[in-house]
This record gives sequence, C-alpha cells and structure tokens, in this order.
Amino acid sequence: MTGMRAAVLYGKKDIRIEEVEKPSAGPGEVVVQIKAVGICGSDVHYYEEFRMGKTYEMVEPQILGHEPSGIVVETGEGVTGIKPGDRVAVEPGETCGCCRHCKSGHYNLCGDVRFLSTPGNKGAFAEYLVIGADMVFPIPDRMSYEVASLSEPLSVGIHACELAEVKPGDRLMILGGGPIGIMAAAAALAFGVTDITLGDIQENRLQFAREHCHVKHTVNTGELKTEEIVERFTGGEGFDCVIETSGAPVADYMSVDLVRKGGRISLVGIPKDEAVQFHIFDIIDKEVTLKGVFRYANSYPLAIQILDSRVIDFDAVITKRFELEETAEAMDFALNHKMESVKTVIVNAK
Ligand SMILES: [Zn+2]
Ligand SMILES: [Zn+2]
Repeated sequence: MTGMRAAVLYGKKDIRIEEVEKPSAGPGEVVVQIKAVGICGSDVHYYEEFRMGKTYEMVEPQILGHEPSGIVVETGEGVTGIKPGDRVAVEPGETCGCCRHCKSGHYNLCGDVRFLSTPGNKGAFAEYLVIGADMVFPIPDRMSYEVASLSEPLSVGIHACELAEVKPGDRLMILGGGPIGIMAAAAALAFGVTDITLGDIQENRLQFAREHCHVKHTVNTGELKTEEIVERFTGGEGFDCVIETSGAPVADYMSVDLVRKGGRISLVGIPKDEAVQFHIFDIIDKEVTLKGVFRYANSYPLAIQILDSRVIDFDAVITKRFELEETAEAMDFALNHKMESVKTVIVNAK
C-alpha cells in the first residue's frame, strides 16, 4: 500500500500519528493534499469524550477534522473543471443528491450524509483526503490555506444570517463571541448589516470583536439586564434579528427578550441539555420567527468571496498553528484555551 500520515483518535485524549493507506481518486472524485484544517468545537468534544452529545458516538479509531483546504493532486475519471494543482477549500458533507432535501437545495438536511470526521467517516487530519469533485472550491491565489479553512465555520455564519433574514438597515444582535459568532458577524457585514452588537460574558472575546471584527457595539451580557441592553442599543424597540451562537441556555432564553416584535431569531449554538426554556407567550405575542441552523448549503463560493473581501481581519482569527504530528498538542491547546483562543489550525507545510 502507498501510505500517508494521519492523526488517528483511538479513545479519549488518545491521538496517535500513524501510517495509513493513502486514498486514490475513483470516478468523479479528487484527492486533495491537505494544507490546513481548522479545529472545530466538535473535534475537541470527540477528543475529550470520544463522542458528541447523545447522537454521535465513535465506535472505532477515527481521523477527525472537517475544515480542510489544500491542493488537488489527483482527479478521477470524468472529473472536469478541477485539475491537479488547483488550490481549494473542501466542503465536508457529501449527501445523497436524490432525496427531497437534496433536490430542493437544502442538502444540509439530507439524512444520508457522509460528513467528514463524524463516526464512520474519516476526517482531514491527514496528509491526503479523497472527496467528490463537487465538494472542492477553488480559492484565489492570494488567499492562504489557513484563511481558506475558515470557509466551513463561515458557511455556518452565512446560513445563520440567511435564516435570520438579515439585511441592510437591520439591527443585529449576535450572542457568543467564539468562532461561529465572529463568522456570523463577518457574514452579516458582507450582507450589508452595519449595526451589529456582539454579546458575550468574556471580556477578551468582546475585545477581540471590537479590535478585529468591525462590530458596532459589544456588550457583556452577564453584566447588563436584557431590558438595559435593548434600551441602550435599540432605543427600547428590540433587535431586528438575533443570532445565538453560544449554546448557553440563558442565551436562548434571552434571545426572545432581545428581539423586536416581528423579529427573527436563528439558533446555532448547541446547549448541553436537550430542553431549554423559552418565553412562549412572548414568542407568540411578538410574532417572533425562530429558526434552528444546521450546518449550511450552497454557501462555499460565497464564503470564499467573503474571506477574500477581508470584511473582518480573518488572519487574526487564526490564533495558533500546529503541524500534523502535533495534532494531540493542538487538541490540548484548543481544549485548554477555549476562552483565550479563537481558531487553532493544523497545517501541513510539506
Ligand atoms: Zn466545524
Ligand atoms: Zn439527500
């Protein structure tokens, strides 16, 4: 077998660098030499617990990583439009293409998805990855692979903005200043929203948002009452849209108080508990539109454009880089510095 190096997770906090079989391209597929992969919160969950929530349980050793970018090195039979040497961002979820969700363009809801780094689906903490040619998207020459790897979390931000129907003139509140909150801010700016308030309870995150993300206001949501936030930033009316990215149950609850009558809320953050409280009377009385956000669909070309536009300082989002051999250290770093870091990236300089 031709081999390649990969970081394989064997159990809780047990990552080993191993020689595994190098993939080759079948019909309609491409092989990408991985150059950068962002570490996602879900990767860290799997690393810590070998599972994520109740739904996703690892059953065998697993290669994590689903935010890759790299260079195409091989194309399979029938591939057109993509050639060896192309620099690309890789979308991680291949779907069936046949069900009602796929056919209607909402393929993120497909029940037959092979999403990189979920149980049974190899991820990208490796030297090479094989994937359908329609899952790779060329990036501009001037874009670094690290910034290109942000296409995945930025896609979540784009989808959250789409579902909250953010548009120019809106007053938008983003709850949570982690990677997804920052990416939602970037997407909203690209959508023409200038009045963005970002709320978090960590001062350093608020500072990062002020310094690098062009948000208009930041607010420590642990220090001000919801009514005070609404009064101070919207003159008492409420925000047109709220995007919840923190996953804190209290933030879910707050979102209904923060939004105006007829406003829209999109929920991205995943709370630890399955059931959280909402003000049902307020949702009804205010005619609030509440939407869940699950991954994204058809967003990569736009994500790449937004990254290239530098609407925020995307380079600053990359806190720290590790080589593939250091994947375990990278995971420990991401786990132990959740609050002080934004994005940790595995790079493959070779
Ligand atoms: Zn992710
Ligand atoms: Zn489908």
